[in-house]
Amino acid sequence: MILVVARKKRIVMSQTFPEPVSVPPMDRYNQALINNLHPPNWVNPEPAPCYNLVVIGAGTAGLVTAAGAGLLGAKVALVEKFLMGGDCTNVGCVPSKTMIRSARVVADIKYAEKFGIGTSREINIDFPSVMERLRQIRSEISPNDSAKRFQQEFGVDVFFGEARFSSSDTVEVAGETLRFKKAAIATGTSPAKIPIEGLEEVGYITNKTVFSLTQRPQRLAIIGGGYIGCELAQTFQRLGSEVFLLQRSSRILNREDPAAAEIMQKVFVREGIQLLLESKINRVERQEVETVIYYEVNGQEQVLRVDEILVATGRTPNVEGLNLEVVGVKYNQKQGVIVDDYLQTTNHRIYAVGDVCMQWQFTHAADAAARIVIQNALFSIFGLGRKKLSSLTMPWCTYTDPEVAHVGMYPKEAREKGVEIDTFCVPLNSVDRAIIDGETEGFAKIHVKKGTDKILGATIVARHAGEMISELTLAMTNNLGLKAIAKTIHPYPTQAEVIRKAADAYSRSRLMTPGVKKLASTWLAWRR
Ligand SMILES: Cc1cc2nc3c(=O)[nH]c(=O)nc-3n(C[C@H](O)[C@H](O)[C@H](O)COP(=O)(O)OP(=O)(O)OC[C@H]3O[C@@H](n4cnc5c(N)ncnc54)[C@H](O)[C@@H]3O)c2cc1C
Repeated sequence: MILVVARKKRIVMSQTFPEPVSVPPMDRYNQALINNLHPPNWVNPEPAPCYNLVVIGAGTAGLVTAAGAGLLGAKVALVEKFLMGGDCTNVGCVPSKTMIRSARVVADIKYAEKFGIGTSREINIDFPSVMERLRQIRSEISPNDSAKRFQQEFGVDVFFGEARFSSSDTVEVAGETLRFKKAAIATGTSPAKIPIEGLEEVGYITNKTVFSLTQRPQRLAIIGGGYIGCELAQTFQRLGSEVFLLQRSSRILNREDPAAAEIMQKVFVREGIQLLLESKINRVERQEVETVIYYEVNGQEQVLRVDEILVATGRTPNVEGLNLEVVGVKYNQKQGVIVDDYLQTTNHRIYAVGDVCMQWQFTHAADAAARIVIQNALFSIFGLGRKKLSSLTMPWCTYTDPEVAHVGMYPKEAREKGVEIDTFCVPLNSVDRAIIDGETEGFAKIHVKKGTDKILGATIVARHAGEMISELTLAMTNNLGLKAIAKTIHPYPTQAEVIRKAADAYSRSRLMTPGVKKLASTWLAWRR
């Protein structure tokens, strides 16, 4: 009994109670989310004398680093200032893909007549229900990232509060000092701000707030035609908003293959999205109940009246307030924390991982990089056995409809690196299953090293391109050439046959040389 009292006393004296958080609207789903990802009754544990690894940020990068290290027996502290799960679970992949699913249902119903299915009544899009489903799904997924799970299953000490370095081997959080042998910065990014006159005063939404909406914005201006802007533009348009997509350059998705972007532009225009390309926003102001955007195209000022503005113009790394100067970790606002190929910062005891330091800002990239950090920070001695970021083959996908998925090099990149390529491109309208599905807008384009079957990169545009790109990623990761894909039997009819057809095109290009043709016809003539 005395012991219990003594322990209790110690708990009260040294353990800290983090600030509660809220996620609007505070319904039962968001309450369940918070209960998992930042429990209101959470008591930060008493810090261990020294941690093998202190991880700052519990998004994908931090979670995977902490869980993996914990499972391997390391003493790990994980610090999160807001919600575990970071952007992906709370304000990124999960909520956006949930909304996209609802939007696809709308599109399927809208185009049902094409398939001989009549829809007698107008489609009733219940936006509040769509958003409630989003909150429900998000809360259902949230136990995976929960504080309790990390504590109980992975043996990780979870601390809530804002972390900052206080000396070369300590991090401070909520009044506690965590001593470390190694640390990992996994603080992610925030929506980039754009300097447009009047924008801050008028107000706008970003990925941090858009998934909390309960009412549909009737007229929505989206600034930024990158993957976040495009996914949300199509989603809101399909869910009944009138969407205006403002993009500074002459095309959307301007990092992707131009042919892919061209298809998406055609689809967007057909679905009613107003594409305002090459537009420069001069200022924004509020007039009674609406927001007025003054923008310029070809030197001509135009006026756009909307109910809401969504800013999706890129990401800014979360480096502020970490006291990185104290520990000699170099960073800048563009690249975030500067790391080498081993994800080591300019302080050899401190690593960085995920969006805060990487060009590939994706959940699966953060996950893959976290595994590198575990190996390099905890299990490498004298630099032996270290893993490199550059050894990864990274696919990605924009979840528009059709999806745009890519892996490896683009032709432009190959040109810049002086690598000569051959490209094999097969349109989806030559694939039976795509014709059957009525999903012929798209293609598979595969780039190989000139004169060989070594795959250097690929772009697929198809309704489920994100699923299909893995075949090429697998091939690239394991050094399988296009020949191996040509040899692989694909079930008929599937849209993935487009990949085999591209591989067949490669095989034909090798077989149908004049020399081979002559040899074959001589042989066959002799056999007659
Ligand atoms: C709308 C949207 C859709 C997306 N869709 C996809 C998709 O479909 N597929 C995909 O692969 N990727 C997608 N992404 C990208 C993906 O969300 C990110 O790549 C991923 O979340 C990066 O993980 P991270 O751990 O590096 O950073 P984050 O997820 O940002 O996590 C960083 C964490 O650190 C915490 N933190 C920051 N500073 C501190 C501090 N000082 N102390 C303590 N904690 C701190 C933050 O609160 C946060 O929880 C999407 C992103 C957005 C915005």
